Amino acid sequence: MAGIKLLFCADLDPAEAATWRHHLAAALPEADWLDADAARAAPAAACAAVVANPRPGALAGLPGLGFVQSLWAGVDRLLADPTLPPDVPVARMVDPAMSAAMAETTLWAALSLHRGFFAYQRRQRERRWHVHAQRRADEIGVVVLGGGAMGQAAASRLVAQGYRVGVWSRSGARPPPAGAEGLAGDDGLARLLPRADVLVNLLPLTPATRGLLGARRLAALPPGAGLVNLGRGAHLVEADLLDALDRGTLGHAVLDVFETEPLPAGHPFWTHPRITVLPHAAALTDPRSAASVAAANLRAWHAGRPIEHLVDRARGY
Ligand code: NDP
Repeated sequence: MAGIKLLFCADLDPAEAATWRHHLAAALPEADWLDADAARAAPAAACAAVVANPRPGALAGLPGLGFVQSLWAGVDRLLADPTLPPDVPVARMVDPAMSAAMAETTLWAALSLHRGFFAYQRRQRERRWHVHAQRRADEIGVVVLGGGAMGQAAASRLVAQGYRVGVWSRSGARPPPAGAEGLAGDDGLARLLPRADVLVNLLPLTPATRGLLGARRLAALPPGAGLVNLGRGAHLVEADLLDALDRGTLGHAVLDVFETEPLPAGHPFWTHPRITVLPHAAALTDPRSAASVAAANLRAWHAGRPIEHLVDRARGY
């Protein structure tokens, strides 16, 4: 990749940024890395950017910018930057190691909800010895919202565990994993929600999915259902969730993503007995594998070959 300039734009803590720089440099030894100021000073030079939470405006004023590779799977924050050049192709991160981590988190949450392990945790705090009924996996419906890289990996693991699995997507174009049922559109969602003893959200945040998990859809779940939000905080209407939990129509929620991150110290989710909080850690991007994924895409862009996992800017994912 000699002669091609690569920009690393990341709003990360210094140690994390250094780790990424190390793995990216190892995966792309032939690249010539520069910072945004240097790229702006030489506007004619073609360059690509590798980004992780870049500050808004970080990619503005770079006429040579030809490609943006995100190190994150979700690109909602990146696309929300109005200064992102409109015609530059953007690719998101699809890394089997991240999908595997997401499948693990999904399985842990579904299993804990199905077997009532969060309820046992609550009772431990109360020093209460009480055994509840035990249901078989094949009696439990788990619905995964989103049938992409994350949703497919999660659904496969849930099928292997013996659950009755439904997968919801926009188009229905990608078949669900063997053993799962795939449905699409509003009708599909209306059919799936009443079967979701556990509802797992793995959608991207777009104008069409923002606020999807509100009172009406939560009320369509079976009584006492569990909710697992691993997509984005803005998919969920927080007040509606609290209401459903407090009225007992929803049993428990496992939340990894929030409207405001980090979750503010005074937020009611921290101490709610029926909410389990994770710090946006369901599936971290692993620099050891993701740097190679990014490198392969950057080499494809440089060689004029097709770029993988391009974002459809109009759809927002
Ligand atoms: P993909 O782009 O591979 O898949 C997105 C899926 O969502 C597709 O099946 C798509 O449908 C479906 N979808 C999109 N819009 C709609 C809609 N309006 N109605 C119904 N279905 C819709 O994304 P990934 O699977 O890689 O990632 C999904 C999201 O997971 C990320 O955007 C991010 O927000 C979140 N994530 C969270 C992490 C965490 O640690 N908490 C880590 C990584 C990702 P179709 O197949 O028809 O296109």
